[in-house]
Amino acid sequence: MNLKSILLVTLIFSAHQLFSQENYKTVSKVDSTKIYTCGKKYEVKTFPQTFKAKKPKNVIMMIGDGMGVSQVFAGITANGGHLFLDNFKHVGFSRTQSASHYITDSAAGGTALSTGQKTYNGAIGVNTDTVAIKTVLEMAEGKGLATGLVSTSAITHATPASFIAHQGARGSYEDIAADFLKTDIDVFIGGGYKHFSQRKDKRDLTKELQAKGYQVLRNPEDIYKVKTGKLAGLAADEHNDPFPKRTMNLPKSAETAFNILSQNKKGFFIMIEGSQIDFGGHANNTIYIVNEMLDFDQTIGKALEFAAKDGETLIVVTADHETGGLALAGGDMKTGMVKGAYTGGDHTAVMVPVFAYGPGAELFGGIQENTDIPKKIMSLLGL
Ligand code: MG
Ligand code: ZN
Repeated sequence: MNLKSILLVTLIFSAHQLFSQENYKTVSKVDSTKIYTCGKKYEVKTFPQTFKAKKPKNVIMMIGDGMGVSQVFAGITANGGHLFLDNFKHVGFSRTQSASHYITDSAAGGTALSTGQKTYNGAIGVNTDTVAIKTVLEMAEGKGLATGLVSTSAITHATPASFIAHQGARGSYEDIAADFLKTDIDVFIGGGYKHFSQRKDKRDLTKELQAKGYQVLRNPEDIYKVKTGKLAGLAADEHNDPFPKRTMNLPKSAETAFNILSQNKKGFFIMIEGSQIDFGGHANNTIYIVNEMLDFDQTIGKALEFAAKDGETLIVVTADHETGGLALAGGDMKTGMVKGAYTGGDHTAVMVPVFAYGPGAELFGGIQENTDIPKKIMSLLGL
């Protein structure tokens, strides 16, 4: 190739690039979801770092589904430089690989975080031989602690399901719902009503829950009024709507659960999930991600409020995996604008952050396997 033809090729190539950019602009309607601009900021409080006890009596585990470091920093930027997460002084990383895949799904990721064992993608509370493994929630229940699950997805979806159900396939929603009845869980709030009420086997699990003493409620305002007793809050047929459209309020649901569970003198274990950070990642929608991230962080704020007052509560915040391969291609700390770029529509393999606050928090620093997190919690609770 001589110089002339190289120049010609370069010229054609640049023209093609220009043309594709024009094409790119014509699809800018779809692309607008990649830029978050409307920043309604909230104030972040600072909480004390001294605690009554050396070991926790209560553990609040919080999982931001699909929440990698970029998702956290998108939240920091959108809220003008600060999140409630700033209060967590012990920070580490979690390696998320599953037994079957370099890139985990939420079932294997949830099971790793609930049982301390790596399993195959799709597994709910079972090992690689599909044998049921005891979860940290079940162990806590066995020791007389109160237990809870709160999620903005269906409560039967992979992440919460991994803490209470034992099924070979994550899609077995009705079997997962039936597994709730095999436990003595005190409080669960999320979506998934139809998996309890409109079933192939014709069982009405809402009636069965009531017979077991649960207050089965669908209206979020009724759910927040519950002060004591067993509570099954099923605020949506399947997943709750994305924030801010959903009626179920995650911070209020978490507070409701803390109030009920903390009446148990022996302590409690609860897992709270910000489920839809992941949904925003799959959709490559930065607005969705930031909205969900800020809702989750404000829920973390409620957990901090409880833990700081109580002095015997450990909070561990982490993720099951990152979603979307989100990178921040631009932003503005003053306005809260965040510009997201993505590598794809699925999960990625990168390490995810681990944040800990309260007695025992110092154990969660450094690089660890996702399976180490529940093992540390079990050991701290003496399970
Ligand atoms: Mg999830
Ligand atoms: Zn996902």
